[in-house]
Amino acid sequence: MLIPMQTRSIGALDASVVGLGCNNFGGRIDEAATKAVVDAALDAGITLFDTADIYGGTRSEEFLGRTLAGRRDRALIATKFGGPIDDERKGGGGAAYVARACDDSLRRLGTDRIDLYQLHFPDQATPIEETLGALDELVRAGKVREIGCSNFSAEMIEESAGLSAEHGWARFVSVQNEYSLLRRGPEKQGVLDACTKHDLAFIPYFPLASGVLSGKYTRGATPPAGTRLAALPADRQEQALSDAVMNRVEALDAWARERGHTLLELAFAWLLARPVVASVIAGATRPEQVAANAAAAEWRLSVADLSEIDAVIAASKRV
Ligand code: NAP
Repeated sequence: MLIPMQTRSIGALDASVVGLGCNNFGGRIDEAATKAVVDAALDAGITLFDTADIYGGTRSEEFLGRTLAGRRDRALIATKFGGPIDDERKGGGGAAYVARACDDSLRRLGTDRIDLYQLHFPDQATPIEETLGALDELVRAGKVREIGCSNFSAEMIEESAGLSAEHGWARFVSVQNEYSLLRRGPEKQGVLDACTKHDLAFIPYFPLASGVLSGKYTRGATPPAGTRLAALPADRQEQALSDAVMNRVEALDAWARERGHTLLELAFAWLLARPVVASVIAGATRPEQVAANAAAAEWRLSVADLSEIDAVIAASKRV
C-alpha cells in the first residue's frame, strides 16, 4: 500500500521528509536484499534515494538503478561524485573528471538524469569555480536537475553561492553534512545558518549515528549479531558506545518513552523540527527498518520540547 508522505523542497525537487541512504547497497547487503529495502521504501512513500559512485565499490548505483527499472519516475535519485573509486578514478572536482563521473553514474543508474548531483567532499586541489562551471554544463545538458555539496563549511557555502550568482550558473541547492542528536556540528559551525541564508536544503547524514540512535545497542552489551557495529573492531565499538554516548542515549530514550515515543522516533523528529532539514536519509539493511523509519517522521516536536531536549543533553554530560 502506498502511503503519501510529507515532502520538503530541495531546489525544484519535492522530496519525502524521510529518504533512504543507500550506502549499505553492494557492501553490507546484496542485490536481493537491496531490492527488498527499496521496495519497502517505495511502499512507505519514500521518494528520495541517496547514493554515491563510491558506495559498495560502485555497486550501490548499479543495484539501485536495476531495482528502480520500470518505476524510475517514482524516485528522486541523489548521487555523489568526487570520492576516490580506484587508482584510475581518483575523484576530485576537476572539470573533465566531473563530466566523466556523471556519464558513468548515469550508465550505472540506468537513467537519463540525476535529480540531485552532489560534490561528495571539498576538493582542495581544484578551485570550486571550475567544479561549479562543469556542473552548470551538466544542468544545461539536462543530465542533472539540481546540484548539491557535501562536507562543506559555512565559508565554502558562502563562496559557492557568490560564484554561482556572479556567473549566472546553477547553484548548490543542498548541503549534506553529518548531523544528529549525537553530533551537532552544523549548528555550532554556522552551516545551518548559511543554508538558511542562501535558501539551501540541509540533508543530515548519519542521522541515526550508524544505528546508535535506533535504540538497539545497550550499555555494556555486545552489539547484536549482524548489526553495523558488530562488524567493527572492538576499539571502534567502544568508541561508538562510550559511557559519554550511552549517558546521552539513555537520557534521550527515557525522555521519549515518557512521552509515549521511541528513541528512533525522537532521532527523526528532532532533525525534522528544523525547517532547514529537507529529508532524513537514514540507511537500512532490512525492510522492517525502512517501515519504522518512515513512520518515525510523524512525531512533531514543539519549541518547548526542543529546549527540554537541550536540557536533557546538557544534564547527561554532567553524569
Ligand atoms: P545512519 O542512517 O545513521 O545509520 C544507518 C544504520 O542504522 C543502518 O545501516 C542500520 O544498521 C541502522 N538502522 C536504520 N534504521 C533502523 C531501525 N529502524 N532499527 C534498527 N536499526 C536501524 O547511517 P548511514 O546509513 O551511514 O547514513 C545515512 C546515509 O547518509 C548513507 O546511507 C549515505 O547515503 C549518506 N552518507 C553520506 C556521507 C557523506 O559524506 N556525504 C557520509 C556517510 C553517509 P544495521 O546495519 O545495523 O542494520
